[in-house]
Amino acid sequence: MMDVYDLAETWTRDHIEQTQITRFKTTIERASTCEFYRKRLADAGVTPENFKSLDDVRRIPFTTKQDLRDTYPTGLLTVPKSEIVRMHCSSGTTGTPVAICHTANDINWWSDLMARCMYMIGVRKEDVFQNMSGYGLFTGGLGIHYGAERLGCLTIPAGAGNTKRQIKLALDFHTTVAHILPSYALIVGEKLREMGKDPKDFPLRIALVGAEPYTEEFRKRLESLFAMKVYNSYGLSEMNGPGVGFECLEQNGLHIWEDAYYPEIVDPKTGEPVPDGTIGELVMTTLCRQGMPILRYRTRDLTRFLPGDCPCGRKHRRMDRILGRADDMMIVKGVNIYPMQIEQVIMTFEEVGKNYLIVLENDGYGDVLRVKVEIRDEFFIEDVRILRKLQQKIAHALKDEILVTPQVELVESNSIPLAEGKAVRVQDLRKKK
Ligand code: ADP
Ligand code: ZN
Repeated sequence: MMDVYDLAETWTRDHIEQTQITRFKTTIERASTCEFYRKRLADAGVTPENFKSLDDVRRIPFTTKQDLRDTYPTGLLTVPKSEIVRMHCSSGTTGTPVAICHTANDINWWSDLMARCMYMIGVRKEDVFQNMSGYGLFTGGLGIHYGAERLGCLTIPAGAGNTKRQIKLALDFHTTVAHILPSYALIVGEKLREMGKDPKDFPLRIALVGAEPYTEEFRKRLESLFAMKVYNSYGLSEMNGPGVGFECLEQNGLHIWEDAYYPEIVDPKTGEPVPDGTIGELVMTTLCRQGMPILRYRTRDLTRFLPGDCPCGRKHRRMDRILGRADDMMIVKGVNIYPMQIEQVIMTFEEVGKNYLIVLENDGYGDVLRVKVEIRDEFFIEDVRILRKLQQKIAHALKDEILVTPQVELVESNSIPLAEGKAVRVQDLRKKK
């Protein structure tokens, strides 16, 4: 039964691409049954018959988040509403949420894709899987849950928060694999320490970590904290949710399941494709979804295709970890900065604790970039001179990376408010002109 998950994984490049062409034709045909796409595709002159090669993808107009908002809630359905068995919403991190509707078959596909991700990193039915992410409308709950059950794991729908109970469940059931948001993982680690336990003794051997950006430095910290392997999991509600891109055992780029999604990376300004290795905006098409197909969706997520073959042998293309959202870019004193550049630097300091916050202000003369950094308790009791030195070291290291001198503020553990769900890394208090 397990071999099912290996089938598409072992496809050749040619087979992947032939399948994509076939599935594009079906998707175009299906999409044309809703008014929105019927008009869009007719205006562009795209039909299943004249879609002949993957070069034809560029003739299809992009779909934007605004389009999904405009057609909310059911304007993009291509089946009768009675065929829909589930809907999910995006987290709404960047504004009004959008709703995505799934048929039973869509849920089946999604569960298989998610099971394939987990199988790839060595999760088996003998594992106990605990989902430490929020459930409800957030796709990281049920999406991953169904994948774990599909693999046959004992699946614990713990949800996010209630950290003490979370820990008890993991210890009682000997949880070996977890799905957890990066911002929450460090909280669990800290709670364990508070309870006098070494996180290394926690039974976890693998964690699926995603839903928000994090750096390689953060991964290393998490892996050594819990003595476990951390694999990056990427997805977005518009493309079902998790199970779109996932790291293999190499931990070097996320394979995109190209039999189910067609990925492109384009210049965010011109919409033209960029060469492999160049950073741009990820654009995605659903190739298997029946209830609500989406063509060439502008994700606003920035990444690049990694050139060359993966040593694991899979031919599905790899993308680099997400650098951030195009909307996350901060312009400070005319310099473009991404929050992840800041995380990358501060996470290399062992004194730094679990949370940080970037605050942008205008002091009347110009932009001020403040970085508030939580310091672990055992370091906070240090002598003021040592803390001052640390503060300067962090500020210098940041200046080298982002070219702007920040004001670094060292704060006690738990003094930065935690977001429910995805972390809020930036607070922009500058007056909008
Ligand atoms: P929202 O856009 O409201 O957060 P979703 O819950 O659908 O809605 O989240 C999808 C988004 O989350 C992606 O577009 C991306 O920006 C971010 N994301 C998901 N997984 C990752 C990951 N592994 N690394 C970085 N960002 C991620
Ligand atoms: Zn690989």
